Amino acid sequence: MVPQKQKINTRAKSPKGKKENNTKFIIVTGGVCSSLGKGIATSSIGAIMKACGFKVFVQKLDPYLNVDPGTMSPFQHGEVYVTNDGAETDLDLGHYERFIDEPMSKWSTVTTGKIYTDVLAKERRGDFLGGTIQVVPHITNAIKEAIREAAAQSGADIMMVEIGGTVGDIEGEPFLEAIRQMKSEDQVFHVHLTLLPYLKGSKELKTKPTQLSVRELRRIGLHPDMILARADYKIPKELLDKVSRFCDVPREAVIPALTVNSIYDVPLNYQKHDLAQIIGKKLDLGPLNPDMSKWEEGRERYEKAEKTVPIALVGKYTGLDDAYLSVIEAIKSAAVHHGRKAEIVWVESEKLEQKDPEAWQELKRCKGMVVPGGFGIRGIEGKIAAAKYARTQKIPYLGLCLGAQILTIEFARAMLKDRELTSEEFDEEGKIPPSKYVVHFLPGQHKGRAKGGTLRLGAYKCKLKEGTKAYEAYEVDEIEERHRHRYEFNNSLRKKLEDKGLVFSGEWPETQLMEIVEIRNHPFMLGSQFHPEFKSRPHRPHPLFRTFMGAVVEKRK
Ligand code: GLN
Repeated sequence: MVPQKQKINTRAKSPKGKKENNTKFIIVTGGVCSSLGKGIATSSIGAIMKACGFKVFVQKLDPYLNVDPGTMSPFQHGEVYVTNDGAETDLDLGHYERFIDEPMSKWSTVTTGKIYTDVLAKERRGDFLGGTIQVVPHITNAIKEAIREAAAQSGADIMMVEIGGTVGDIEGEPFLEAIRQMKSEDQVFHVHLTLLPYLKGSKELKTKPTQLSVRELRRIGLHPDMILARADYKIPKELLDKVSRFCDVPREAVIPALTVNSIYDVPLNYQKHDLAQIIGKKLDLGPLNPDMSKWEEGRERYEKAEKTVPIALVGKYTGLDDAYLSVIEAIKSAAVHHGRKAEIVWVESEKLEQKDPEAWQELKRCKGMVVPGGFGIRGIEGKIAAAKYARTQKIPYLGLCLGAQILTIEFARAMLKDRELTSEEFDEEGKIPPSKYVVHFLPGQHKGRAKGGTLRLGAYKCKLKEGTKAYEAYEVDEIEERHRHRYEFNNSLRKKLEDKGLVFSGEWPETQLMEIVEIRNHPFMLGSQFHPEFKSRPHRPHPLFRTFMGAVVEKRK
């Protein structure tokens, strides 16, 4: 039975004036090593709690010093995920949104850099009245405030907090200390994700690293309520017993988290071990019975999809799944929707530019291509050549932000017979007259415009034109999608391009800025200034990805 949803107000005062805090917190830490999939584990627990009927919100606490990940290279840190309210965040927020299907916000992301910036600004203002500012209590208090504020802002019943990094990292200590304090002030359930490494020589999984990471937690005064034990092989019962005994965690709360085939399996596998009930017991949530049917259907659909379809991803960071994580997830779920499995074929745009025969061969064997977002001039001509190939050979093409700009530049060059047409972004030396910019800074924004803080970020409205591919995909008049870009289509070329067969099928109503372009008389060649991938969900692939994949599948028959 799904529990009655309680309305919770974390800021409410009890009659005695004491803070009454009804939000329950689930904290997730990681031990042994990084890259164990803590974001997916957190999201999966969130998905299960949502399936119990609770309102779930998630916050990622990142111990690094950047104020936000907006300036970090996708090479190092993976994609920058953008929320509706325009926060540039860690890619884990994408997992949260995909699994829990709730919008995250700027409250979902906190870094050491942000905490220190806020505390130091207060210090400068004189808020601390001559006191000595210290990590404990000032930084730890600021961390606790950030967590509780996020809970209050979101109105969540269950507030999940993922601590970035690995237990034992120097940077992570203030966050763990804040959690230690919260354990006696709030209702907290602590999940610790670890690894049982496999030793080939002795053919066995080992528990010692897990024991040591729990010992490290104990040193800080933390004691996990649950251990998720990641392993690449089935964990024998005796080892789970051993983890329970040595780490002092009830046996039922040591949950094997084996490497799985599809993301659908993760929440299902956790719940197979009654994860919701174990958490519910500790947090007094009453009897819980999560409805996992959506996940079961997803798994079934995934398993049924046998045929694979190769889709080219023409980009700069080839081979780095994390750099285009949301794009890849969106392609995969759109393929599953059409009963296929997507094979992502990485095609490096610079190699296309250099006419590398292998790269071209790879591109040509694909049944559709996606040109994702990006910044800077590197590899641009390769992407334009790929777009030309898609247009002339009628290969389905989906352009995401930069990919939409590429589509338009290629079309403009071909139809207006002018090789010089380009984007202001690619005219680094300023040699090309502005009249040749197909894509440019908005008029009036040219001079002295800096790189920092100039992106159009977050959700904007877009009005769709009837009778277009975009309209066919969304089936509504108006949509809202997320942006992260600096340049816009040049309206002064609009009429000329329309006359040649380019359709501007989406427009930001207040400004007449063009948001979606598509090519008439083509199976599917469409690009959007926004990033549809951020709103694609495993159970609900994004309309543009779904329609693109529909065209791929249709063409294949
Ligand atoms: N570099 C382009 C711009 O700033 C595209 C950005 C993107 O693809 N996100 O407009």
